[in-house]
Amino acid sequence: ETATLSGREHATRLRADTTVEAARLTATGTPPRLAVVTATADESSAWYVRSIAKAAGKCGIHCDIADLGPDAAPAAIRDRLTELSADPAVHGIILQTPLPPGANAQELAGAIAVAKDVDGAGPLSLGRLTAGLPAFAPATAEAVVAVLDAHDIPLAGRRVAVVGRSTVVGKPAAQLLLARDATVTVAHSRTTDLAALTASADIVVAAAGRPGLITAAHLRPGAVVVDVGTNPTPDGGLTGDVDAASVTGKAAALTPVPGGVGPVTTALLLHHTVRAAATAHSAADSAA
Ligand code: NAD
Repeated sequence: ETATLSGREHATRLRADTTVEAARLTATGTPPRLAVVTATADESSAWYVRSIAKAAGKCGIHCDIADLGPDAAPAAIRDRLTELSADPAVHGIILQTPLPPGANAQELAGAIAVAKDVDGAGPLSLGRLTAGLPAFAPATAEAVVAVLDAHDIPLAGRRVAVVGRSTVVGKPAAQLLLARDATVTVAHSRTTDLAALTASADIVVAAAGRPGLITAAHLRPGAVVVDVGTNPTPDGGLTGDVDAASVTGKAAALTPVPGGVGPVTTALLLHHTVRAAATAHSAADSAA
């Protein structure tokens, strides 16, 4: 009786929309272009970057990968981001993590022009999001809300526990949920009695990067659970932060891993990129 809140159908709809918009922009002289800056030898990061490039290509978005190597100096990363921010042919910029030791992702992402910050990585984007001003939200945080919306799960007035306070997922997810009139509590590694806190929530968003952290003991009967965790398993697969076997039967609904928040995240990144390109296109039009 626990429903599966798949993200695949919504991701397919988003990609179809993105493909139509990319074709329109290309036909009118603004082929959408995404740049991914990476500086790591991390294999799972490389896999993720390739998957973004492939998904972009399928939607008709050009994707350039700027691999600065695992020894890149922070200044070199910043310079590349500044250069791409000034390049009118580039509409979206992603700074891939992890970065070399000594490089601070949030600080460097500040070099990405807000209009091109399609993964909401810079402090200005997060600040604008918090202030209720237009900005791209981090795609994973937005995907949490998008999956709930896609399954018609109401948010206004409902108690939501967000487990995790990172700048890429937990904090922006809490802001987006607040903007939708949910009553939000944010838990983290120093929270005492996590189970009591999550058990008082109607909706639990698990974004801690701890496999199996959320069990039946953490939920009230009928809770909706969004599992953001993508933890690698020894057999090369992925597992979430929720112990799916444990919560099945008690939760009303659960997003699967893989196939829940993940596909929507990638689809949103590409959707943001065509939106950024459309804005650049109309700005160029009105300047002409
Ligand atoms: P992070 O390590 O930066 O942050 C983890 C957060 O969880 C921290 O705020 C920490 O305080 C909290 N936490 C850790 N242990 C906890 C515990 N026992 N109880 C309560 N809180 C605890 O991780 P992140 O970048 O926010 O990512 C979180 C998870 O989401 C990871 O599994 C990551 O792989 C996944 N993720 C998925 C996508 C996607 O597209 N699906 C994208 C980004 C991240």
